[in-house]
Amino acid sequence: MHIDEQFDGNSAGLMNRVPVDPYEIEREAVIAMLEREQRSLTASLIALALMAAGVAAMPNPLPMTVLLALRFCSFLYTRKAAARLEQLARARQPMRSARWIVVFAMSLTGVTLGLMLWPPPPDGSMVAVNLVRGVVLVAATLIAVTLAALPAARDAMLASFWLTTFGYYLFHPGVQHPALIAILALLVIGIRIYSSSTGLHIRSAAQMLVENRQLSEDLADALAHAEFLSWRDPLTGLFNRRKLFEETRMEHSALSRHLLTIDLDRFKTINDTFGHGVGDHVLIATADTIREWCHAVGGTSEHHAFRLGGEEFLVIVRGLDDVEVAEAAERLRLRIAGLEDQFEQYPDIAISASIGLASWRFGEGMDDALLRADIACYEAKNTGRNQVRRAA
Ligand code: GH3
Ligand code: MG
Ligand code: MG
Repeated sequence: MHIDEQFDGNSAGLMNRVPVDPYEIEREAVIAMLEREQRSLTASLIALALMAAGVAAMPNPLPMTVLLALRFCSFLYTRKAAARLEQLARARQPMRSARWIVVFAMSLTGVTLGLMLWPPPPDGSMVAVNLVRGVVLVAATLIAVTLAALPAARDAMLASFWLTTFGYYLFHPGVQHPALIAILALLVIGIRIYSSSTGLHIRSAAQMLVENRQLSEDLADALAHAEFLSWRDPLTGLFNRRKLFEETRMEHSALSRHLLTIDLDRFKTINDTFGHGVGDHVLIATADTIREWCHAVGGTSEHHAFRLGGEEFLVIVRGLDDVEVAEAAERLRLRIAGLEDQFEQYPDIAISASIGLASWRFGEGMDDALLRADIACYEAKNTGRNQVRRAA
């Protein structure tokens, strides 16, 4: 297995950053907007209550009460549409259709707000009339600013609001003054301009948030990759010496531990006879065998395998007793010797390993245990190779 196949992080690194996903920016902007909308809930309820007070103070409140009821229904519908949009945004689901429902709901908001500017009865109290009108204008402004990040919904609301008041003027030219309609048009344009600059701010804040998030993810990937490269042997993917020092510096295990030093026999001959490339493949196959053995060997904890250099490997075995580890080491020796089958296209290739086994005593430094395992490995070499020797 090659090193790059083992690392599943983003090897593109920081230099080739993936561009930020426009959906993510949209999503953050929508979430920011919906949070604002929730915060303005009290203001919306107060506005409805003030409108109700104004309507109640009018001489013939019935038609306005019907309009107020419509306004209330539209308010509830908008909240439902916004809640659905928020649910989708938080679940990272497509938001397209929910956004169109919000646009529709906001058009109704505009219409019902516009309807509240119903021509006042001539004998109506000026305070009540102006209260309703003032609250309608403030509500339209607040809603337009709150909706700044959803331009289609905001524009639909403002347009339907103004068109409704214009419709009143068309049908009641005598009652609704044209100046009022013109002032409203200017007001709507002003609100629109103010709201779009707020919208730009919300969008750029959302973009910054997404970019920062992406940058920290890339950074975490790059760090993981750098850590992987600094701890791994590039040929076999096993841990390297640096990782061994790190690991043993931190090691405070109460588990029983053993060290296995594994040295391939007459490896130089393989290189000399079949070439360095075949030698490399034997090293990779040996590392794979050791890795698989580590997974299969059992015990109460993970066993870590290292390539110390050349054709020398080390395994720290944890949680096995002396007998279990000796039996397991013998199985490993047989598996390595069995690698010859994988290289049968190279006639007479001889693959085997000499293994030294030492227990790493509690409180003992790793160097001492490693020395004993090494001595056991030399003994295995000197007494015929392809065998496991146990340190005294
Ligand atoms: P012994 O049975 O006594 O261990 O003999 P040996 O030939 O295995 O040991 P020796 O130390 O004499 O030779 C090890 C060889 O491993 C020498 C070196 O060229 C080779 N070697 C070291 N690193 C690599 C590598 O990354 N790839 C290959 N193909 N060979 C390597
Ligand atoms: Mg050697
Ligand atoms: Mg050797």
